[in-house]
Amino acid sequence: MPGLIGCVAEAYKERAFKRAPYLDIVCGPNDLYRLVENLGSLAQNKEKLLFTGAQARVNEFYRGAWFSDETKHAYVIIIEGCNNFCSYCIVPFVRGRERSRPYKDILDEVKVLIDGGKNEFTLLGQNVNSYRAQIGFIELLDKVSKIEGVEKLSFLTSHPKDASRGLFEIMAQRDNIDKRLHLPFQSGSDRILKLMNRGYTKGRYLQLACDYKRITGGALSTDVIVGFPTETENDFLETKSVLDGAGFDTAYIFKYSPRPHTPAAGLGDDVPKEEKERRHKILLDMQKKISIKYKIRN
Ligand code: SF4
Repeated sequence: MPGLIGCVAEAYKERAFKRAPYLDIVCGPNDLYRLVENLGSLAQNKEKLLFTGAQARVNEFYRGAWFSDETKHAYVIIIEGCNNFCSYCIVPFVRGRERSRPYKDILDEVKVLIDGGKNEFTLLGQNVNSYRAQIGFIELLDKVSKIEGVEKLSFLTSHPKDASRGLFEIMAQRDNIDKRLHLPFQSGSDRILKLMNRGYTKGRYLQLACDYKRITGGALSTDVIVGFPTETENDFLETKSVLDGAGFDTAYIFKYSPRPHTPAAGLGDDVPKEEKERRHKILLDMQKKISIKYKIRN
């Protein structure tokens, strides 16, 4: 039962069935609850299912939808949408601008989940660090971590532009906050970072990585894109040097491919496929050795 789910599905809508006739399901990120409700009809009637176009109702349908009754873990969405407009990303176009949930709703939801037997929580958002609803993200982390019954607390995803020493300090202070941080750096070239509209430099990122490790002693993971439009060998070497210097426990390395309607798609896709594959393989091989080194050390 092949399906396309997420932001690209939202961007293409019914055109996705034309481009990929083998698809049975096309579902945008805000329509997942409708998909769950209608899976039965797909199994019985063999109809194709198209669910797109819903506006996120961050305080309503996500509530309680993101956990399995078989585990002690629950996801709690704290912010939806994104204002960052990274030039390669369609999230701000399909999920809209940032909307933070009132913090009291989040605290209430965590308490209800604890009553239901949960004790591990992941706070979710495209950019959790920009959470703001009377209080900011660090204060929210502080409040959630102090709720009786919260044994483990983590969060996804952080943006380097908004990460800070204050965040690392609260992580270090609270025993129940997971000492793992996912902080995507995407490229080590300041020129490419500017084209990506990421809002930080290689130097700023390396400083953050260094502060994080010094303050928390925790694990660090990242995302990297190779073959972004106009990326030269020198740009790639800058990226390689970040991988070499930051000490990532895990790195998710992607080959660039254009997303519809994004500014980066207008820059062309001029790095040849073979070259993207070569750069991808170099980083993968490199990261494998680094990951082994960190596993041995830990
Ligand atoms: S911060 Fe993440 S979600 Fe937002 S535009 Fe950039 S890549 Fe997309």
